[in-house]
Amino acid sequence: MAKVLVIGAGGVGSVAVHKMAMNPDIFGEVVLASRTRSKCDAIAASVKQRTGRDLATYQIDADDVAATTALIGEVKPALVVNLALPYQDLAIMDACLAAGVNYMDTANYEPREEAKFEYKWQWAYQEKFKAAGLMALLGSGFDPGVTSAFAMWLKKHKLKTIRTLDILDCNGGDHGQHFATNFNPEINIREVTAPARHWENGDWVETPAMSVKQTFDFEAVGPKNMYLMYHEELESLAKFIPEMERARFWMTFGDAYITHLTVLQNVGMTRIDPVIYEGKEIIPLQFLKAVLPEPSSLGPTTKGKTNIGDIATGEALDGSGEKTFYIYNICDHEDAYAETGNQAVSYTTGVPAMIGAALMVQGVWKGEGVFNMEQFDPDPYMDMLNKHGLPWQVKELEGPLAF
Ligand code: NDP
Repeated sequence: MAKVLVIGAGGVGSVAVHKMAMNPDIFGEVVLASRTRSKCDAIAASVKQRTGRDLATYQIDADDVAATTALIGEVKPALVVNLALPYQDLAIMDACLAAGVNYMDTANYEPREEAKFEYKWQWAYQEKFKAAGLMALLGSGFDPGVTSAFAMWLKKHKLKTIRTLDILDCNGGDHGQHFATNFNPEINIREVTAPARHWENGDWVETPAMSVKQTFDFEAVGPKNMYLMYHEELESLAKFIPEMERARFWMTFGDAYITHLTVLQNVGMTRIDPVIYEGKEIIPLQFLKAVLPEPSSLGPTTKGKTNIGDIATGEALDGSGEKTFYIYNICDHEDAYAETGNQAVSYTTGVPAMIGAALMVQGVWKGEGVFNMEQFDPDPYMDMLNKHGLPWQVKELEGPLAF
């Protein structure tokens, strides 16, 4: 039974600590720290009410490496689970190295001043973690996270090679607001407004943001428009499935979301460079975040389902020629809220965060250095998804996507 320190008291952190508390045989003690202590205490009260378990809480600014190292030294966890923002990744990795503790996260590092998603900054820690005999697991959320486990499961059980891969992320939920994002608005809008990129024949192909649109009929949701985007798991998938000819990532957005986003972009509200307002520097996107609904407040009103999965085409393992498989999870917003007090976008990220942490503290996934999801046996991860609220299905399709 291990002790873990979770940093970040947003929607994802909330789901992860609820699920950890529901598994006392794995997580003997759960400690929650974040920038705003009152948010940790509210989550701890919900965990107590739902599971009867107590969580210790702390205030921490995780950008402060010395303070985070001291906190880790005081708490003495077996693992630090970083569910703050991508900006904190490197600082928390440094603190883990200084304190001699393993590390895990759900989103790759981003510099504040540039919306750039690349593993290079975290991969550069490989030798440091190895030399310290420590393990860092990157990207154990849904996407990235489960989408990589899905691809590796298909590669282990169905396909000898993967020629093309499409990741389809559909949120069919309705929160009843004119405009809101389902996870941190600043991170979400930076991701959506960045140019799209996909992997094709050994190189990245860039297209303008939201310029490639297709329609797909999602089970349990119905037909939805989805847009080609860049998403960080494409980089690790292209690295660890080197035979892939093409890998793409699609996300659904409703027309109202696109209209609001276009207006906000046109008037400059999504800018991430500082502007002077009443003599002070402000970042328009950070100000926008302050006026948008908090993702964690959407739980009570969100209805509908998410459907996220991978479509992979390649040479079948059984020698029957080229085959296409679709592997996906459907998650219900209201069920997720009833169980943990958070909507399905937080749930589909927080549950895989708990699972990645469980496999690390139990030594099922182990190693020294910095690892991506693709480097481990997907089977124990996939079993836990089925047991802990994110059951998946796999079916054969007649062929790859027509587009
Ligand atoms: P939220 O914005 O709801 O929560 C982030 C939390 O981190 C807040 O409690 C915030 O504190 C805290 N925080 C921010 N900066 C610091 C800091 N310097 N020190 C300590 N705590 C800090 O985000 P989400 O819960 O929606 O997302 C959490 C993470 O999960 C993000 O990295 C996001 O990118 C990732 N994610 C991954 C997904 C996946 O599928 N892989 C999907 C969705 C999200 P405060 O309350 O004071 O603002």
